[in-house]
Amino acid sequence: MKTRKKKPFDFLIVGSGLYGSVIARELFNAGKRCFILEKRDHPGGNVYTENIAGIDVHRYGAHILHTDNKKVWEYVNQIAEFNRFTNSPLANYKGQIFHLPFNMNTFHAMWGVVRPQDARDIIVQQRASEYCDNPKNLTEQAVNLVGWDIFEKLIRGYTEKQWGRKCEELPPDIITRLPVRFTWDNNYFNSRYQGIPIKGYTNLIGKMLKNSEVRLSCDFFENRHYWESLAEQIIYTGPIDAYFDYVLGPLEYRSVRFETHVLNIPDFQGVAVMNFTDRETPWTRIIEHKHFNFGFQKNTVLSYEYSDEWNHGKEPFYPINDKKNTALYRQYKDLADKLDNVHFCGRLGEYCYYDMDKTIESALKKSSELLHSEPFKFNSLEKSSIPPYPVFEEQVE
Ligand code: FAD
Repeated sequence: MKTRKKKPFDFLIVGSGLYGSVIARELFNAGKRCFILEKRDHPGGNVYTENIAGIDVHRYGAHILHTDNKKVWEYVNQIAEFNRFTNSPLANYKGQIFHLPFNMNTFHAMWGVVRPQDARDIIVQQRASEYCDNPKNLTEQAVNLVGWDIFEKLIRGYTEKQWGRKCEELPPDIITRLPVRFTWDNNYFNSRYQGIPIKGYTNLIGKMLKNSEVRLSCDFFENRHYWESLAEQIIYTGPIDAYFDYVLGPLEYRSVRFETHVLNIPDFQGVAVMNFTDRETPWTRIIEHKHFNFGFQKNTVLSYEYSDEWNHGKEPFYPINDKKNTALYRQYKDLADKLDNVHFCGRLGEYCYYDMDKTIESALKKSSELLHSEPFKFNSLEKSSIPPYPVFEEQVE
């Protein structure tokens, strides 16, 4: 009987982002022979942090780990220590400062109210005077939900910059609910746990990958037949359409552009995240990185974020999960499902926006399936698309 020669590796992992790093750690710890290809010149994918002037800079946008999943929190904390950072971003509307998420601090700055009922009354009154039965676009929908003032100062400009279109041209279902919070709580996330790795995400990723063989600056597609010949199975975390050479056409994304500045002053804006919610300011946010770690360095590093159209050559950041792209993704998924030994994973392989905790959950679940042929026991995973705007706690009735 003819026997097939065993390939030198059990798994080839394409991409050393959070997904690839978690699964590499789990498979390696279970005794599997793995190696990782990464096309960038550094590991970590979008969670990568680089040290500039003694400050951990989130090169691909601010990353705050937040989760309700105790197992995920314990998992990352056993690998690296996390701080107690609480995300409390500010909105800057033409120099006027408002707290996010929309809460009593926001309403106080907007209308001078100090009692929750007074804020509720104003929102209900503004909604009622502008109400329209069948909102045809995002403006009508948002005004229906939170009234004119909040829409005009805190939603319109930011959303238009994010999507590159006027709110009147955006579909109403981008915002299905805009809950607001009637307490003075500025904590942006509702999650039970949140924080930032004290020595940066790159240290966290480095610890996950410490036993794995990683080839940096190495694009899978430049020599795919060779790489494929080396491993029994492939865990592919790159874009799914690229794997199939865009045979059905390209999937679409929104991209983000960052401009990073090192300033010779100890601080610039006094907060990690400031959103610029007017239409005229070209950037959407300024990130001041030292505040993620309560830094006292004599310099500061800022990243200006600009929402950007995506085309080939640009980083694909946010999948556009509209009807057209979702249908196209399903067709690619059908092709993917026909391949026994290739697993399409992570935010690019599954064409969906995953927060980091969901990425970790997903990688742990997959490794468990691969190792034991049974799912990891976590709560069911929820996919989400790009959060259109802050997600809040309470819906105004
Ligand atoms: P990636 O990080 O994209 O990793 C994929 C890797 O594959 C990349 O390194 C890429 O270079 C590599 N690759 C692709 N193609 C190839 C190829 N052909 N050959 C070799 N290598 C290849 N989540 C939170 O929980 N909190 C936040 O605050 C938060 N902020 C975010 C801000 C922004 C701007 C964005 C875009 C996302 C944010 N996220 C946040 C989500 C978080 O980034 C993801 O959950 C996580 O990065 C997904 O990891 P991944 O490994 O799936 O993807």
